[in-house]
Amino acid sequence: MSTSKKRDYYEVLGVGKNATENDIKLAYRRLARKLHPDVNKTDPNAKEKFIELQEAYDVLSDSNKRQNYNRFGFSGVDVDMSNFFRGGIPGLDDLLSSLFGGGMFGDSFGSIFGSRGRGRSAPRREVGQDIEDHIEITFEDAMFGTKKDVIIKRYIPCDDCEGTGAEDPSSVKICPQCNGSGRTRKMTQSGFGTIIRESECYGCNGTGKVIKKKCPICNGMKVVLETKKIHVSIPPGVENGVHLKVQGAGHIPSSRAIPGDLYLGIKIEENENFIRRRNDLYTPINIDIVTATLGGEIKVPTLDYKTEKLTEKELKIPPGTQHGTEFRIKNRGATYLRGRGKGDQYIIINIEIPKKITEEQKELLLKFKKSSSK
Ligand SMILES: [Zn+2]
Ligand SMILES: [Zn+2]
Repeated sequence: MSTSKKRDYYEVLGVGKNATENDIKLAYRRLARKLHPDVNKTDPNAKEKFIELQEAYDVLSDSNKRQNYNRFGFSGVDVDMSNFFRGGIPGLDDLLSSLFGGGMFGDSFGSIFGSRGRGRSAPRREVGQDIEDHIEITFEDAMFGTKKDVIIKRYIPCDDCEGTGAEDPSSVKICPQCNGSGRTRKMTQSGFGTIIRESECYGCNGTGKVIKKKCPICNGMKVVLETKKIHVSIPPGVENGVHLKVQGAGHIPSSRAIPGDLYLGIKIEENENFIRRRNDLYTPINIDIVTATLGGEIKVPTLDYKTEKLTEKELKIPPGTQHGTEFRIKNRGATYLRGRGKGDQYIIINIEIPKKITEEQKELLLKFKKSSSK
């Protein structure tokens, strides 16, 4: 897709300038289901179209990027989709669930029983609902990777009633209203003949079973809330705002169900010494006019990948260094999550002009000026 014909992000998503976060999510999800190369198989430009959509969503779903885009247009945002899709475009289901988790669009109430497979043809295994949570880590942890314990709350089958919901599992009876099928049929006569309408049985909520006495531990819910410590390994180079998937750490509606997953959002504390852009780090450093003019050695903050600590490094400033000069320190940037290697660190020189000087310094500077103009 040539940059000269780049379409406005709002136009790509088909939403207005004042669309809410939710409008944007819904528009993206709707279009992703239409444009994803898994679905859009006959269109030779499917990939480009999808990448265009993904880029628009990447910017407009992030309030910072969106603000910059609104103010400065394309030049205000830095998106690199080649990085995003380094390993190829993920499958549609994977993409949607990794972006939104399972819960975002599922029915929010009673949805622990898994909405993913609902409505599809039987037989199928129940799937537990995903859990979304967040964790805040330091910049140092983000650079070198870390391990964290996260406490989550999730539903698991009630041990006491073996997930039947009954005080005594033998008191579970077949529902008399539907004879255990979980569905009821209603026949009505109309001008077009007999209409048979099938619906979920009210007597048993579609389970086919009724319970005389509820299990006192789970109150007939079949599941109980568990507080669990999850050990999460955070890879070096992780970016702010990504969601790490911990497979199987979500809700477990029954002993035969496939557990849901945990999507852990990563929030990284800012560090004023390191500004990240893709995998490079930018470090602004103040130096005085004398060091800039005569040269010298300064200490700059950097990453030490051997000790996995933030450290300082000597940097030679050559005589005559100008304001805004960048010095590159190779391989001291962030680790690439996929692929190999690291970005670089750039030291950006800011020459400080003294705001207050003594009479003596003033004289020296005037003397300097006089001698330079000779
Ligand atoms: Zn129970
Ligand atoms: Zn029934």
